[in-house]
Amino acid sequence: MSGMNNQGRPTAAGEAGSSDFETFTGNKGLRLEEPLIFELDNPGATGVDLDEPEGYEPKLGAFERKARIGLPGMSEPDVMRHYVRLSRKNYSIDAGLYPLGSCTMKHNPRLNEKMARLPGFADVHPLQPQKTVQGALELMDTLAHWLKELTGMPAVAMSPKAGAHGELCGMMAIRAALVARGEGDKRTRILVPESAHGTNPATAALLQYKVDAIPATADGRVDLAAFKAKLGPDVAAIMLTNPNTCGLFERDIMEIADAVHEAGAYFYCDGANFNAIVGRVRPGDLGVDAMHINLHKTFSTPHGGGGPGAGPVVLSEALAPFAPLPYVVHGADGFRLVETAGEAKADGSHPFGRMVAFHGQMGMFVRAMAYMMSHGSDGLRQVAEDAVLNANYILASLKDHLSAPFEGPCMHEALFDDRFLKGTGVETLDFAKAMIDEGYHPMTMYFPLVVHGALLIEPTETESKHTLDQFIGTLKHLAQAAKGNDKSRFTGAPHFAPRHRLDETLAARNPVLRWQAETPKQAAE
Ligand SMILES: *Cc1c(COP(=O)(O)O)cnc(C)c1O
Repeated sequence: MSGMNNQGRPTAAGEAGSSDFETFTGNKGLRLEEPLIFELDNPGATGVDLDEPEGYEPKLGAFERKARIGLPGMSEPDVMRHYVRLSRKNYSIDAGLYPLGSCTMKHNPRLNEKMARLPGFADVHPLQPQKTVQGALELMDTLAHWLKELTGMPAVAMSPKAGAHGELCGMMAIRAALVARGEGDKRTRILVPESAHGTNPATAALLQYKVDAIPATADGRVDLAAFKAKLGPDVAAIMLTNPNTCGLFERDIMEIADAVHEAGAYFYCDGANFNAIVGRVRPGDLGVDAMHINLHKTFSTPHGGGGPGAGPVVLSEALAPFAPLPYVVHGADGFRLVETAGEAKADGSHPFGRMVAFHGQMGMFVRAMAYMMSHGSDGLRQVAEDAVLNANYILASLKDHLSAPFEGPCMHEALFDDRFLKGTGVETLDFAKAMIDEGYHPMTMYFPLVVHGALLIEPTETESKHTLDQFIGTLKHLAQAAKGNDKSRFTGAPHFAPRHRLDETLAARNPVLRWQAETPKQAAE
């Protein structure tokens, strides 16, 4: 189409990627261009060809539409191509290594997809009589069983639809337990280590708790003394990510759990990084009261623009009675969903309410179950071992080229800081953008906040040594280029993408979400 970019702004031919040099990989980044469908409008073109119906008499009189309806005219192949091209803009785990730290972007086995498409799972409706969906309920029950087994916890709430949603669920169970023992008003503070995932303080704040940050030690872990000093009768819980977002295992976790319990508070563990310890460590043995598990991370269900999440929350004995509705029970007449507080009361439970309209992400349950069954217990254990091995391979291969803030091995992700860029005029952001020119999705940047200019890389266990070597080679090459004064390569990056540097602040503050023929203020460049 004629020189319009995605934001409807004219572009000069060849504007994108005008700089030209050889990249290390030979890739030329993400140089793809596709206008909006409205900009592709070809009036009169259509994918269908219908005759005027015989004997048709318009009955609308003066109300008949005179102007065009405003939908773009396109032929069927044009529509097809438009959407296929758009789909190719989506960087995905199927297209390449996706090293986002704290996101566990691992391969989604196709077997899982095949299972999820079985009509008995794919075509059921949540309002169908329960006796007609016994297999689906049994699958939920079996998945719940294995999640409890893997975590060493007695109960699990299956319905939350993301990690952050699971946090909310777990914290609501904690609040319900505190209210039940008459301490709801008294315990108003939540301790959150600096190395926690950002969703942890957000969850606590959403529930109107006061968030109290615990500083990190020089080796990237919770400062035990500072933590103990903060405990008191007004503390409701600690929300601790383990392994934490520095990619490190909290060595003092059992001591932390004991101290929290002694203070009459609860221990919420962010288990989104369960991939690092699955099959090797049972959070129940560590004294955890509530922990969400992202099925879309550890158990390989698609995410990252690719599918809905699922964040079941395992609960301790103390919190189990407060788990939300609905939940599956198994009795003499098969499987059944407990849907009401009245029914729950009969088995001694006091659900705090509901997280969602129905029972959770059925499609993700099927995929996660398929993943578990195809791995078996030895396979799941190997997942954790290989994830940690891959991350350490990256850490060991790059620590002399980039700079690693902490001594010693990591867990599932390797953290670097920006000291290696000192004096080069290149910053973490520039470095990450240069990775796009090499055909890589950048790693997580500037997070965690406990180190300066963080670069957080999580390769996951599904990447081969060959893939890791190419990635490592690329980063070594880029580090060398940055140190070798090749500054413009970085500050102008990405050179080989259809857009270069977007004004992300403006895009966030003034998002243009609707197409207008004349878009007033652009977020782009
Ligand atoms: C991914 C992640 C979350 C949030 O999970 P969502 O499904 O994105 O809501 C929370 N904590 C940690 C440590 C994570 O890695």
